[in-house]
Amino acid sequence: MISLRHIYKSFDTPAGTLAAVNNVSIEIEKGDIYGIIGFSGAGKSTLLRTINLLERPDSGTVIVDGKQLAELSKGQLRQERQSIGMIFQHFHLLNNLTVFDNVAFPLKIAGMNKAERRKGVEECLSILDIADKIDAYPAKLSGGQKQRVAIARSIANHPKVLLCDEPTSSVDPQTTGDILKHLAHINRRLGITIVIVTHEMDVVRAICNKVAVMEHGVIVEDFEMNNSNYVP
Ligand code: ADP
Ligand code: ADP
Repeated sequence: MISLRHIYKSFDTPAGTLAAVNNVSIEIEKGDIYGIIGFSGAGKSTLLRTINLLERPDSGTVIVDGKQLAELSKGQLRQERQSIGMIFQHFHLLNNLTVFDNVAFPLKIAGMNKAERRKGVEECLSILDIADKIDAYPAKLSGGQKQRVAIARSIANHPKVLLCDEPTSSVDPQTTGDILKHLAHINRRLGITIVIVTHEMDVVRAICNKVAVMEHGVIVEDFEMNNSNYVP
C-alpha cells in the first residue's frame, strides 16, 4: 500500500545541514498497523509527512496505492491526499466550529451536498462512539473526545491510509487505550491501513503488527509483532 524508497530529507539549520531522514526504505502492506518508534528528534514525524508529501523528500520515491506521488499534477495530488487521512498529537480541530462542522469540513471540500454531509458526519461520529457531541464545540471536549472527533474527521473521505503523528502523546494512559481501541477498530472494520509515529512502546505493543525503530534519521531495526489485538 505504501512504498518508501531511499527517502532523504534534510533541513538547513544554524549548525549546518541536518539529515532528518537519511536513506530510509520501508514497505507497508494493505491492512497493516505499522509503528514507527524512536526518541524525539529521530526523524519519525518528517518521515511520516513524506507519505502524503506534506514534506517533500530531497530524493527518493513515495508510492501510495500504486501511484508515485511526486509525478502527479497538483489536482491529482489533491485528489490522492483525500485518500490519506492524518491525525496529530494536538488534534488540530478548528475551535470556532462545532464537531459537526469540523467533521463535515473535508466533505465540503470534496463537494458533497448538505444531506450527504449530514449522513457522512453521523456515520463517522457513530463509528467513533461520539455521536452525542455532534453540536459541541471542541473547547467543551476532553482530550480523548477531541482525538476521537479528529479520527472521525480523518476517515470522513473513506481514506485508504491513516497517518497518526503521536496520536496519544497528550492524553493519559486510560484514554490512550481507548484511542488505540478505536484505531484498531477502524483498521479492521474499514480496512484502513494505519501508520503510527510514537515514542511509546506501549502504543506499539497494543496495536501494531509491524514496527520500525528510528534513530538519527535511519531505521535501525524492523520487525513483526505477534499482536493479539491485531486481527488481519
Ligand atoms: P521526531 O518526529 O522523531 O521527533 P522530527 O521528524 O520532528 O523527529 O525531527 C527530526 C529532526 O529534524 C529534528 O532534529 C528536528 O528539529 C528537525 N526538523 C524537523 N522539521 C524541521 C524544519 N521544518 N526545519 C528545521 N529542522 C527541522
Ligand atoms: P505536533 O506536535 O502537532 O505534531 P510538532 O511540534 O511536532 O507538531 O511540529 C510542528 C511543526 O514544526 C512541524 O511542521 C515541524 O516540521 C516543525 N518543526 C519541528 N522541529 C523544527 C525545527 N527544529 N525547526 C523548525 N521547524 C520545526
